[in-house]
Amino acid sequence: MRRRAVVVGAGTMGAGIALLAARHGVGTTLVGRQDAALALARERVERGLAFLEGAGLIDRAGAEGARARLTTSTDLAGAVADADLVLEAVTEDPDIKRVVYGAIGRAAATTAIVASTTSGLDIFSLLPDFPAPERLLIAHFWNPPYLVPLVEVVASPATSEAVVGETEALLRSWERVPVRLSRYVPGFIGVRLNSALYREAVDLIAHGITDARGIDTVMRESIALRFAVLDAMEVVDFGGLDTFGRVWANAFPAIAAGGTVPAFVDRLVAGGAAGVKAGRGFYEWGGRAPGELIDARDRQLARWLHERPRYRLEAALSGGPPAEEPMKRRKIAGPRFGMRTGAFSNGYVVDLGPAEMIYTAGHLAVDAEGRLVGGADTAKQAEYIYRVLEDILAEAGAGLDDVVKTTAYLTDIRDYPAVNEVRNRVFAGREPASTIVEAAKLVHPLARIEIELVAIRGK
Ligand code: NAD
Repeated sequence: MRRRAVVVGAGTMGAGIALLAARHGVGTTLVGRQDAALALARERVERGLAFLEGAGLIDRAGAEGARARLTTSTDLAGAVADADLVLEAVTEDPDIKRVVYGAIGRAAATTAIVASTTSGLDIFSLLPDFPAPERLLIAHFWNPPYLVPLVEVVASPATSEAVVGETEALLRSWERVPVRLSRYVPGFIGVRLNSALYREAVDLIAHGITDARGIDTVMRESIALRFAVLDAMEVVDFGGLDTFGRVWANAFPAIAAGGTVPAFVDRLVAGGAAGVKAGRGFYEWGGRAPGELIDARDRQLARWLHERPRYRLEAALSGGPPAEEPMKRRKIAGPRFGMRTGAFSNGYVVDLGPAEMIYTAGHLAVDAEGRLVGGADTAKQAEYIYRVLEDILAEAGAGLDDVVKTTAYLTDIRDYPAVNEVRNRVFAGREPASTIVEAAKLVHPLARIEIELVAIRGK
């Protein structure tokens, strides 16, 4: 497997692809022209990692591993010389690509695979002199590449079959879904399908037949609804090829076949309605910041990717929803909470889909150095334990307001009034979580009290 990747171009796609490679165990160098661009790309990567962590798609160790494997550089030739995989993601401009590929071609090792994420350029005709055409191909990612699974793979007649096969295997190992085209066509598959739909949509709007809301209502209440369950060509099978064939025969001559974009689209852009990034497009976006809207969209996409298998036809045909994925949980306690002594080693976040459950417990007021805090004073031990538990909750992104239940285990039930007083102070002004008190024999000879918390936090 490829172990050293270079991503050339530190913009939207470059940062996302570098994150993807690094989180899947590949040492990755992201190459940009200027330090300032690389600093921005690092911020993008950080936001992406935070997003994946928040969505439960990566744990903290995974995010730290990705960070550790990702470096940046302004030295294209030096970085490329070391790589066995070069992923090009520079500006979609033929002249820029030509220059960049000149440099890649001169510097790349003779074993390196070179893949472009161009949205539509025929890089094969653009680079007739590329020194290693057998190792050159297109791997067209979708944005954001660490979230959207599809990668369209396009080879030229000169690309070696082994290179295409290895690239596809690599993409699968990165949890992407490669789809291979038999040859280069402008727009590949996805952009063509999308464009056919939007050509008709803007044509209907331009002719005053409906507006953006009408298009979207029709989509949501019919086409998109069916697509949640069946894929596009499966829909045809269910409707009947004969019926669809007759509908198409009537419709194809009537639908938009124009080769130009209706003028109102340019007018909207010129009037400042360029979409979410401008605060308005077909719709007003309520004054919300673009970043907030994009984050919300990506969170919903991640949620749907996770849920989708349950709603597909395959699930019903295979006898009900697919087996639930193994429960996802991550540990949150650690040495800074006294784990050396085992006092606060118990802390987990369990992913419940729309919410997270946090379970944590501390059984002894012993700090990370092993010193007993509070001595034999149960109330002081309780104070210390509640404080550490609050820190552990914070580590999980929760707080005392999220606590739904607590249990206090005491070696001597007579200590309860002292513990109860601390508890009431800690939870003062909050929806009080019910506390159960149990007398227990604790494992540690110095332990007088153990406090358990269960919290639930909406994602
Ligand atoms: P972008 O403008 O965000 O990033 C392009 C980056 O390339 C910029 O940081 C620019 O400084 C850098 N660059 C330009 N010349 C360079 C050079 N000589 N050396 C090194 N870096 C150079 O653009 P993007 O959206 O990330 O697009 C990159 C590629 O990915 C394009 O080919 C685009 O068509 C394709 N793509 C974009 C999307 C998308 O949704 N944005 C999706 C799929 C594919």
